[in-house]
Amino acid sequence: MQVPLLDLNAHYAPLMEQIKLKLNEVFLTHQYILGPHVRAFELMIQDYLDVNHSVGCASGTDALVLALKALDIGRGDEVITTPFTFFATASSIVRAGAKPVFVDIKADTFNIDPQKIEEAITPKTRAVMPVHLFGQPAEMDLIMDIARRHNLAVIEDNAQGIGSLYEGKKAGTIGDIGTLSFFPSKNLGCMGDGGMCLTNNEDLANKLKQLRVHGENPKYYHKWIGLNSRLDSIQAAVLAVKLPYLEGWSEKRRENAKYYYANMQNVEEIKLPYIVPEAQTIYNQFTIIAEKRDELKDHLSNAGIGYAIYYPLPLHLQECFAYLEGNEGDCPNAEMLAEKVISLPIYPELKPAQLDYVIENIKEFYRN
Ligand SMILES: *Cc1c(COP(=O)(O)O)cnc(C)c1O
Repeated sequence: MQVPLLDLNAHYAPLMEQIKLKLNEVFLTHQYILGPHVRAFELMIQDYLDVNHSVGCASGTDALVLALKALDIGRGDEVITTPFTFFATASSIVRAGAKPVFVDIKADTFNIDPQKIEEAITPKTRAVMPVHLFGQPAEMDLIMDIARRHNLAVIEDNAQGIGSLYEGKKAGTIGDIGTLSFFPSKNLGCMGDGGMCLTNNEDLANKLKQLRVHGENPKYYHKWIGLNSRLDSIQAAVLAVKLPYLEGWSEKRRENAKYYYANMQNVEEIKLPYIVPEAQTIYNQFTIIAEKRDELKDHLSNAGIGYAIYYPLPLHLQECFAYLEGNEGDCPNAEMLAEKVISLPIYPELKPAQLDYVIENIKEFYRN
């Protein structure tokens, strides 16, 4: 048996006819940059996430850069974020001209530790950028409270958390700006790159819309130096077909997770994901903490089971950030987890026999 980490064949098979019909609509209009299909999808997202404004752009990475620029964050400014995330969270801060300041995560949730944010605030701090890692929202009540008390903006990197909830509120709509990624492996993926900014603030929304077209308003008059970063009409059309299914897919992921919990709770060498009571996760990844992680990797590979290590090296120790003078020991939880985490297949199209096969192989590994 083979169990890939993600099965886009199985994912797209029932959707391809609908997608082709929708793409034909785009080809008939030849409106490839912004236009009606992008707007239609933006309105669908606003409805789904209960947010007043959405601005489609070229990627989740660009969405973060646009968010920082819209908030006027750049040279001389500091942004507090997590070292245990995809690279783009921190690189976007540097792209905007500011300095990332890394604060350790909690060892059980993998998300930024609100308690440690306050210690990292300096007169230069302008924003906090929490990441809703693996689909579980960061502790937004505490983060918003700290941010309000210190007059900081909050940018939610929600690339992995679309549709997840914190205290009943949709992740990505709680801070000043939230971002989405439609990279193919996210829960709502397109057929290429795509991203989006979310906000309830009309002024920020207007600025984001200008920034994605070179900061122009009116045409050929530039108030800011923006980006060329639009959500492609073709991608918007694909996403409009897929969005109505997203809740069902997330529910399937939660059911798969429940099955893992029911059948692996008693494996002492692993720790299953901890979800705080305030959160409902969408399980973009099902990431466990495993003893003998690297041997487990080999065992799974030999059994034809897909996995991934998110993430093998925390960002404060990356070569490109050496100038920030991060050291080993700065973020002990992130460093410890980088050596122990492994993400297992959780995608909605998994079959019961495949889940059983993954569970059996993990149990077998630790029996020996
Ligand atoms: C995927 C991802 C991004 C970047 O999104 P792209 O669309 O690939 O540019 C940013 N942050 C996190 C946490 C991500 O997982």
